[in-house]
Amino acid sequence: MYKIREFRLERLNRTRFESSRFDKAILVTGATENHGFHLPMGMDTYAAYAIAERTAAQVEGTLLLPPIHFGVSDGLMPYPFNITMRPETLAKVIFDALESCIVQGIDRLLIVNGHGGNNSAIDVALTWLRREHPGAKVAVSYAWWISGPRLCPPGTFGRENGLGHAGEAETAAGLAIVPELVDMDAAQGEWPARPTEVSIRTTIPEISKTGATGDPTGATREQGEKMIEALSCYLARFLKEMDRTDWRFAREDWDF
Ligand SMILES: [Zn+2]
Repeated sequence: MYKIREFRLERLNRTRFESSRFDKAILVTGATENHGFHLPMGMDTYAAYAIAERTAAQVEGTLLLPPIHFGVSDGLMPYPFNITMRPETLAKVIFDALESCIVQGIDRLLIVNGHGGNNSAIDVALTWLRREHPGAKVAVSYAWWISGPRLCPPGTFGRENGLGHAGEAETAAGLAIVPELVDMDAAQGEWPARPTEVSIRTTIPEISKTGATGDPTGATREQGEKMIEALSCYLARFLKEMDRTDWRFAREDWDF
């Protein structure tokens, strides 16, 4: 169903790049961190990149940048094995990557984030970008593991719509994208109690014995495929709408 053409920057040579007329770019911010006993360390990057790939494939002129594989993962220490960035380090990498695009003429940008720990770094990077390049247009998909299940038909996921670190939605994504890297026999999770109106600052080891939260055991490949398809189609529709309106944000006729 998707057009076969190359849009992954690292795979393009100059001839092919210049014949492609890219006018917007997607940057994936991922992580390399423990995901319970059953999911690969790169799960957040794999999931966000798969969504970004399927989005870019649907929208003419979309350049997909190489993903940033390292994120802010202090909250997973000391489970093996995490590579964590200070938020300011990641913010600088994001800023420099996006600024590189802007100074070369691509100033319509979408971040597809794979990992919740990165949010503060993304916000800081985009605040800097707003000051330095006020004409750039930037949008962010912050949380595929929330947006993806929310865009699926009700009942596709179980408790809390599949939420959790290495929980149902993430495990479903793993089964859909990298099934050979998932060990369902080792999947286990738990539901830590938490207050509803206060956000407590905890690490995963403080609230979980397994390193996973939520319930990964019932996850299926079909759920993962539905979720990835739903979110990538949504993001593609968003980009097409942006193109149609010359990237003017906050329109009254939006039906998103
Ligand atoms: Zn994850």
